Parts: sequence; C-alpha cells; structure tokens
Amino acid sequence: MSSLSTGLRQWRERVSALFQDHEIFVRTHGHVRFLRVSAVWQKRVALIAGLVLLAWAGATLAVLVNQLLSSGERAEVAQKQAAAAAAEARIAKYRDRVAETAADLEERQNQLDEWQKSYFGDEPAIPGEAAATGAEAKPAPLKTSAIDPNLPPEAQALARIEARQEAFSARLLAAVSARAAKAESAVAKLGLDPASLVRSAAAGRGGPFIPYRGRLGRAGELGKGFAALEGALFRMEVLERTLVAIPSGQPANVLMLSSSYGYRSDPFTGAGAMHSGLDFPGPIGSPILAAAPGKVVFVGQKSGYGNVVEVDHGQGILTRYAHLSGFTTRVGSAVAAGQQIAKMGSTGRSTGSHLHFEVRLNGAAVNPRRFLEAKADVLEVKADARQRVGALAAGTGGAR
Ligand SMILES: [Zn+2]
Repeated sequence: MSSLSTGLRQWRERVSALFQDHEIFVRTHGHVRFLRVSAVWQKRVALIAGLVLLAWAGATLAVLVNQLLSSGERAEVAQKQAAAAAAEARIAKYRDRVAETAADLEERQNQLDEWQKSYFGDEPAIPGEAAATGAEAKPAPLKTSAIDPNLPPEAQALARIEARQEAFSARLLAAVSARAAKAESAVAKLGLDPASLVRSAAAGRGGPFIPYRGRLGRAGELGKGFAALEGALFRMEVLERTLVAIPSGQPANVLMLSSSYGYRSDPFTGAGAMHSGLDFPGPIGSPILAAAPGKVVFVGQKSGYGNVVEVDHGQGILTRYAHLSGFTTRVGSAVAAGQQIAKMGSTGRSTGSHLHFEVRLNGAAVNPRRFLEAKADVLEVKADARQRVGALAAGTGGAR
C-alpha cells in the first residue's frame, strides 16, 4: 500500500511540475500590460480539455459499439431467416414423405381388407386367433420407440398407424400360420404330400383349381411382412381346400368290402387284376351319396363300369361311382357332401348289386380307405376348414 501511495505522490508531483505560474508581458499601443497565468488556471483548462476529449471519445465509442451490435443483430436475423427457409424446405419434404407414407399405408390397409374379406368373409374379427388355436401367437410390440421424436406431429401419427398395422399383420400371420400348420398335419395324416400340393397350386398346373383370388407375389412390394402373410394365406387356402375336397363321407349307407382295393383275382376271369376301388354290396336302388362337396363332371356309361357318376372336388381330387342302376343328378350340378347322386345297381362288369367307389388324385387311382377311415382329429380340422371355405367349395368344384 505504501508503495502505491508513494507512486501516486510521485505522479502528482510530476504533473504539478508541468503546471507552473507564468507571467506574460503584453504590449498594446505603448501600454505594457502584465498577464499572470497561474498554475491552477492552467490545470483547470487542461482538465476541461481532457473532459471534452473524453466525452468525444466516449461518444465515438458508443457509435462504434452500436454499429457493431446492429451488425451482430443483422447476422442473427439472417441466420434466423436461413433457418426458417431450411425448416420450410424440411417441412415441404416431410409433407411429401407424409403424403407418400399415407398412400403406402392406405394401399396396405386395402390389401389387408381384401385378404380379410376373401379369406374370412364378413366376419368382423380375425378368426383362428391364438386363443382358439392354442398357438403361441404373441402380438408384436408396438415399435413406438422406433418413432423419431423429431418428426412433426402428423408424421408421428402416421408412424404410429404404421406400427399398429404391422402389429396387426403380424397377429394375422401368426393366426393364419397356425391354421395352415393344422391343415398341413391333417393332410399329411391322410397320406398326401402337403408341400407338393402347395407347389403345384402355386405353379398353377392343370388339375387342381387355383383357389387364390389374385396374383401371387403381388404383396411383395408392400413389404416383407406382407409377402410372408400372402404366402401363409395361400398355403392355408390350398391345404384347407384340399381337406374339404377329401372324400371322407360314406358313399352308401352299407358296409364296404374293406379288402377289395388292390390286386385280386378277377371275379370273371380268375386272373390277377388290379382293383382300383372299394366295393359296397347292397340292395338295388340304395342311395349313392357324394363323398365330399364338388361338381358333377360325368353322368353316363363307361366300358366295364356300366352307369357312372364322377364328381370333381377340386385340388385334383375326383370320385367315381359305378355299376349304378339310375342317376339323381346332372353334369354341372354342385353337390354337397352326403347329397344323393345316384342309385345302386349291377350294370357293367358286375356279379351282383354293389357300388364300385373310386378316388382319383390328379388322374391316378388311390386307395379310398385312408379317406373314409380318417381319424376324428383330422375330421375336426376338416370341419373347421369347411366352415371357412364353406359355400365356396360346393359351388366352385373344379376347373377341368
Ligand atoms: Zn369294384
């Protein structure tokens, strides 16, 4: 402190040394005047001059600062304008995206509605839900965490709808897959190959009619989930229709000769011969019944068979009823399972009144026993399938 006060005193002494009393002689018109300029007066003048200088400097500085500030503000305004323009561009882009997303969502919803209608009719709810099938169809969680919180509100709303749509489609896929799996196992128990049935239906090869109402693979562009759903629906459709087409109903209310299919000695020649069906002996005129829903495709005579009726059940499955004494149906008629189509008789190569019953799969005779003796579990799945496919199966028997 003492050094500071010492320094201050020295500085003051130095300043005081600058201002000293001066005496000035002024001679005007012969008179000599004597002006005295004191140190105090000099100091006052210097102080005033200093203050004026300081005021000028302050004003100049204020103007400068003001200018600097306003240029900063201008920069800020420009920055804000640029940000607003960028935001506008972003919003325009969002608007395009939102419109595009909304169009996508609508297209997907249309597809879901179409599937719901064509596969499940007017039932309001998804049938075959996890509760009914016992399958572990766990609903997919809503992916709300995946929704960008920076999106504008309308885009977030669409993203939420999209997430719900995906969850719905995942639940539908689980339900449809569970149904398809049940049908697959039932079809396999009947001795048919589910994979080849689905393959040949997908390839659209002749014989089995194509149940799919639309172009397979169309849903692929709506996303992976939709492609999977389309595949599962197609599979379910083919397998359930096959089950419905299975001739598991008794073709006559009489006992069958269970050992009659296969090689046996011909009743006329005694030589070994292939017997391609099952025989049901009974009184002449006994009602002959369609073993499954389908369409009558032949009514008339065939060499050796006598009077014959053939019913196409779709999926490449056909039943033939032979040695009849009369017909109660016509070609083109849609018949239900158990509906009478003819009367038992002994026409053609027959040794007595009986029904010769044949099942043909894609043109080749197969043993009808495995269908007629289908177990309760298979019949249950078949009944479920018939309930869904329902009236369609009776009306759209086949396309041969
Ligand atoms: Zn026979």
